[in-house]
Amino acid sequence: MRQRVVIIEDERDIVELVRYNFRKEGFEVESFSRGRDGLEFLRRNPVDLVLLDILLPDEDGFEICKRLRADERLKALPVIFLTAKSEEMDRVLGLEIGADDYVVKPFSPRELVARVKAVLRRQARVAEKREVVESGSLRLDTRTQEVTVRGRPVVLSALEFKLLYFLASHPRHVFGRDRLLDEVWGRDRFVTPRTVDVHIRRLREKIEELPNRPEFLQTVRGSGYRFSPEVMESVEA
Ligand code: CA
Repeated sequence: MRQRVVIIEDERDIVELVRYNFRKEGFEVESFSRGRDGLEFLRRNPVDLVLLDILLPDEDGFEICKRLRADERLKALPVIFLTAKSEEMDRVLGLEIGADDYVVKPFSPRELVARVKAVLRRQARVAEKREVVESGSLRLDTRTQEVTVRGRPVVLSALEFKLLYFLASHPRHVFGRDRLLDEVWGRDRFVTPRTVDVHIRRLREKIEELPNRPEFLQTVRGSGYRFSPEVMESVEA
């Protein structure tokens, strides 16, 4: 799956430079010139990393970073600041605002791509090490294969556990059936995309309060499934 980078930056030239170079590297790129629009997008879409300018027409980058860190769903999202002046750099370093890295303008696109890849690699390693996934009222422990929902233990088959673990480890990301087959079933040939539907249905019966109106395991029409860490309104199942 392509990784998606969001750039919040009001300088057109920088946005174009970033867009061109990151697309060339196989990334998806979304850009916003206003902080509030960028934040709105991040709250609604799965994103792998944010490039954040500091001086923006509305809220500054520090404020946006603070809001991300205060948001339960976005607090772990990697942020790289694009700083223009050394005073800004000092603030990035001095304030404990939780930036993952920064680059000083003007920067070379190659260097920025390398920094982004390094941050994403670090993030992936941290994610791999996680043994317990907690999301809303759902808790999965990979050491014991125990699952609890709203404090209540749930018994899952090994495959159901694997499927739920995969989805819950990538909250909000939408996965098609084929991708789920690759990730969860691996090379087993005796499965079809329909198998995924059957297992999702069983999981819903075990973990959802109302299996017909799932909160965790949501259907994204025409695309596949996603795990939602909290109740979201008006999603078609
Ligand atoms: Ca700016």
